[in-house]
Amino acid sequence: MRGGPGRVTLVGGGPGDPGLVTVAGREALECADLVVADRLAPLAALRWAPAHAEIVDVGKIPGGRSTDQTEINRMLIDGAKAGRHVVRFKGGDSFVFGRGGEEAVACARAGVEVRVVPGVSSSIAGPAAAGVPVTHRGLTQGFTVVSGHVPPDDPTSTLDYAALARAGTTLVVLMGVRTLEAICESLVDHGLPPGTPALVVADATLPSQVRVRGTVSTITELSEKAQVGPPAIAVIGEVADIADLP
Ligand code: SAH
Repeated sequence: MRGGPGRVTLVGGGPGDPGLVTVAGREALECADLVVADRLAPLAALRWAPAHAEIVDVGKIPGGRSTDQTEINRMLIDGAKAGRHVVRFKGGDSFVFGRGGEEAVACARAGVEVRVVPGVSSSIAGPAAAGVPVTHRGLTQGFTVVSGHVPPDDPTSTLDYAALARAGTTLVVLMGVRTLEAICESLVDHGLPPGTPALVVADATLPSQVRVRGTVSTITELSEKAQVGPPAIAVIGEVADIADLP
């Protein structure tokens, strides 16, 4: 344990391949006293933590047991107040569907010094690992990243699928394995051409990576056939076809 006031570093660990942890992220791990890790964080990178560091896995399994967010915030704050350097280690970027914002605010409110090390988000790196550029000159001038954790007709959904269908940007769906069918149907119902290319990539950047390519009308069935499970990303838009080029 170190002397002086402790602190918290929120480290985005990238999509899974430990080679995609940033240099700053690795440096933070190397001087951690406590690492609070998520399931999707690249766990192979934990070997960079010093031998004395305590590692706590608060991994969230979809639909399964998870450590309550308030409890995680408390762990970070208590650790720092005890004089430790606490590294909160997550998958991708902490601020992209990662609750990093909530943790940063909780630390700041508690008077704890908090630093953010941005990570390589799977929302861009996942498609890239499958050969898909999220933007491509002449094809699309932007990309939209959404969470598919609830289907379009869910009362808690705040996404405007009619707007998404006509936006003309690449659509990147995270957390959408269970809801992919409803999402694709909604997009087509709102006017997205049924032949629009689509691709699903699971376990992106890991040795177990799989990708499935189809159209917005066929992608759900094709990924079910391929038994694609989380974590997976769906990319919908003309760029999804680029993955097939030599
Ligand atoms: N903060 C993370 C995203 C957290 S939400 C980031 O910036 O990447 C979790 C979702 O991210 C998963 O449901 C999945 O859609 C996506 N995801 C994360 N890692 C992935 C990977 N290696 N391959 C495919 N999808 C991944």
